[in-house]
Amino acid sequence: MIGAGAGGLAVAARLAAKRHEVTVFDTADRVGGKLYTLRRDGFAFDTGPSLFTLPAVYRDLFMHTGPPLESEIDLQECEPGFAYQFGDGSRLELPGSSMGRTVAAIGDQFGPSAGESWRELMRRAADIWRLTRTNVLGTAIRGRRQLMSLSRPRDLRTVAPWRSLHDMGTDALTDSRLVTLLDRYATYSGSQPRKAPGAFITIPYVEATFGMWHIGGGLGNLADALCRRAEKAGAQFRLGTGVRSIDTCNGAVTGVVTDSDEMVPADIVVSDVDSRRLPAMWGDDASSTQTDSYSGFAILAAVAGTTDGLRHHSVWFPADYDGEFTDLAAGRPVADPAIYVCRPVDPQMAPPGDEAWFILVNAPRHAPDAPDGHDWSDDAANERYADDVLDLLARRGMDIRHRVRWRILQTPFDLGLRDGSGDGAIYGTAAHGAMSVLHRAQNIGPVRGLFRVGGTAHPGGGLPLVGMSAEIVAEEIGRA
Ligand SMILES: Cc1cc2nc3c(=O)[nH]c(=O)nc-3n(C[C@H](O)[C@H](O)[C@H](O)COP(=O)(O)OP(=O)(O)OC[C@H]3O[C@@H](n4cnc5c(N)ncnc54)[C@H](O)[C@@H]3O)c2cc1C
Repeated sequence: MIGAGAGGLAVAARLAAKRHEVTVFDTADRVGGKLYTLRRDGFAFDTGPSLFTLPAVYRDLFMHTGPPLESEIDLQECEPGFAYQFGDGSRLELPGSSMGRTVAAIGDQFGPSAGESWRELMRRAADIWRLTRTNVLGTAIRGRRQLMSLSRPRDLRTVAPWRSLHDMGTDALTDSRLVTLLDRYATYSGSQPRKAPGAFITIPYVEATFGMWHIGGGLGNLADALCRRAEKAGAQFRLGTGVRSIDTCNGAVTGVVTDSDEMVPADIVVSDVDSRRLPAMWGDDASSTQTDSYSGFAILAAVAGTTDGLRHHSVWFPADYDGEFTDLAAGRPVADPAIYVCRPVDPQMAPPGDEAWFILVNAPRHAPDAPDGHDWSDDAANERYADDVLDLLARRGMDIRHRVRWRILQTPFDLGLRDGSGDGAIYGTAAHGAMSVLHRAQNIGPVRGLFRVGGTAHPGGGLPLVGMSAEIVAEEIGRA
């Protein structure tokens, strides 16, 4: 197993439980990859995932490998789910679960027709989820024929792979603020709303149907729980040991070579590293033609005092949300970004009377050598950009500038160093176009005995899909 991110840990646990001899290598001296809670001076910040959805995927893993998920982590439902503020100053607060209550909340705050239009869209999302959960998202894609299960004209019209998320939203929703809200889900895979498939409407459907969750003490505790489970099942961890290359012979893997030149034989190699970086590990330098996904720029702020009325998850949209995607497509930091804040009410995550704020905006990947790329390694420029983000937040009605005790910045450059991607593109390639599912790095091959798991492989990024990719890979490998 190369990489102990969420996907790598999940495969390791599943395969060890299937009696494989598993060794997990990670360059880092800790497990979790992007799934990590940074702790300092009594404050704790989820520096990657801060929202846990579809816990059923991980429930399944824990159930198949030992005691249940709930015995390992403190799963807490977020209620309410998200508070949104739009460019015109209007607000929308949505519950943490229940489609009925979500529709009612939209109806109450934006008017009955807006609520109804959301309900209709979410009915379609339910159909798409039913059609794709097992046959597309829950299975290894071996080629176009696989998608034939969707070839019944009615099903195809429902999924409409040729429609973008944005188009589906503008057609169905009567209130432009809901289109803005829906567009944001494209960024859950680092993509453009006008290019991401309409099937992304399943993301808010999954949130409302299966709930939004926090993990007591921070989501990083899930990584530790997965690691404990894998170890208990017999997996060995070699942290601080990176894999430099994958050895192959006659088109099949024979093992890996570590950074310290140790050859470790293996008949199966599972990679959790960024799929764009993988081919180089067996000497293939073919470059991908796919668009790289976006990254994120975060401010981890230790905030003095408490904030009345602030929810666990909040988003402040700009007046012109399209401008965010124009800037991202041009490779420049977003001048007027949507600002996401995660401020858990969790006594394990801040000293009494203070708050830990994770403030995130979408950002282009670190690409100092690309013609229009941005260099995120300039500390002074990063500090100025962080000031700009806090100024914007103040202008949108949430001024914490005088309350910040200290802050840590996490740029695309930092992400790229930490997860081995080099550029911090969180999801590897973007999910753009009708056939994006076929263009994503597949779970099997291309070399015999090699498997790919994680957020840059099929079916995609985010903890639920990463957990599904681990399930697919473990099923494909089978029992020892
Ligand atoms: C800022 C941010 C916010 C996010 N928010 C959410 C959210 O709210 N909800 C959600 O569900 N998801 C969210 N995500 C996405 C989610 O974090 C990822 O999709 C998921 O954690 C990726 O897991 P992975 O298995 O791909 O491994 P990664 O986390 O990418 O880990 C890969 C591991 O491989 C190791 N590695 C790399 N190269 C080598 C090598 N050569 N040898 C050995 N080891 C190597 C790295 O050290 C790393 O530990 C967010 C991500 C970020 C960055």
